[in-house]
Amino acid sequence: MFALFIFIFILFLCWGSFLNVLAYRIVHDKPFLQKRSTCNHCNSLIAWYDNLPVISWLILRAKCRVCKGKISILYPAIELLSAVLFSFLFYYFFCDQNNIIFYSSNIISFFAYFIFFSALILATRTDLEATVIPQIFSIWLVPVGFIFSYFGYLDVNLLQSFLGAAFGYLILFVVAKVFKYFTNKDGLGEGDMELLALIGSFTGYMGAWFALAIASFTGSLLGIAYILMAKKTREFKIPFGPFLSFGAIIYFFIKEYLF
Ligand SMILES: [Zn+2]
Repeated sequence: MFALFIFIFILFLCWGSFLNVLAYRIVHDKPFLQKRSTCNHCNSLIAWYDNLPVISWLILRAKCRVCKGKISILYPAIELLSAVLFSFLFYYFFCDQNNIIFYSSNIISFFAYFIFFSALILATRTDLEATVIPQIFSIWLVPVGFIFSYFGYLDVNLLQSFLGAAFGYLILFVVAKVFKYFTNKDGLGEGDMELLALIGSFTGYMGAWFALAIASFTGSLLGIAYILMAKKTREFKIPFGPFLSFGAIIYFFIKEYLF
């Protein structure tokens, strides 16, 4: 059991590594299917032994071997986050006390939430790096939530999934309009609305509502802390996507204990 979990964990570290590459290439408009990874600074090819998840980043001390350009901490952070989250997801669907059981319906549900979690991680990374949430990781995946819920592989039915997506999008749309009306500034991006629509389509309106509540609460706490520590004015923008994603994942794991 323990050996299996080590294997699973390493597998998901590698998936996190792939998500990093995907997020980077989409944000920077690089070809999607370029074969080998290159340094973001000097474009030299990265050798396989310098491309191991987390470990290479530590050994290289966050610098490119060739040009000594800085390698973002986002790389190991996203890899570790993916490995931990997907291991929990694996445990949630396949482990019953000390047995591992693969029911076919659970395999499809796992796959559905695997796509959902991957999208949340991708949105987190792109929002932190460039304050954008590409539509391909958010609104484009909303119909995927409808399809899985229609066939009964999610914890919500099709109606809940549909209402969740609509509620998620509209509530942030209204908040953004009201904010704009009173301050004449854009507080929320289109990307946040589309991400909450995705969260709603996989978790229903309760999930969208819960994710928004958690995101607003943790986001404002961290925002206030940041303003106090950095002595910044209120004129800076906090990416909201990571907080929404965090709320959605918390909801997924604790929803059975909520109601
Ligand atoms: Zn380099």
